Amino acid sequence: MKILKIDHLGIAVKSIDNGKNFWTDILGLPFEGTETVVEQKVTTAFFPVGESEVELLESTSPEGPIAKYLEKRGEGIQHVAFRVENIEKALSYLKEKGVLLIDEKPRKGAGGARIAFLHPKATNGVLVELCERQAGKDALPGQHDG
Ligand code: ZN
Repeated sequence: MKILKIDHLGIAVKSIDNGKNFWTDILGLPFEGTETVVEQKVTTAFFPVGESEVELLESTSPEGPIAKYLEKRGEGIQHVAFRVENIEKALSYLKEKGVLLIDEKPRKGAGGARIAFLHPKATNGVLVELCERQAGKDALPGQHDG
């Protein structure tokens, strides 16, 4: 498998509206709006930082994974996302290596990405997301990369 870079850090927040001011007003990161991923019961907001991004995650339902995370641990870094060249190849490689996967097949993430999560039991307690994005998207100025 080929990892290209850290794509983003996912941070669970109670409210994007209340939480985003630190990232925008104080750190000066651009805010490009929010996107709700219905299947994952989450609203996301991406803030580009150089080659990577910060992703704030707010739950849309008390049953969602982010709501459960907040209940257990409170706000904080919920996952680390690596961009991979080919997510199917990466998943079959990891499966072959016996790595415990949450998603054996890619699912739809924010910004049209294809994503899959690895189990924290296999990754020193870190929820790791793999994501694959359309080639060339980075090159378009001002286009959301989330
Ligand atoms: Zn993510």
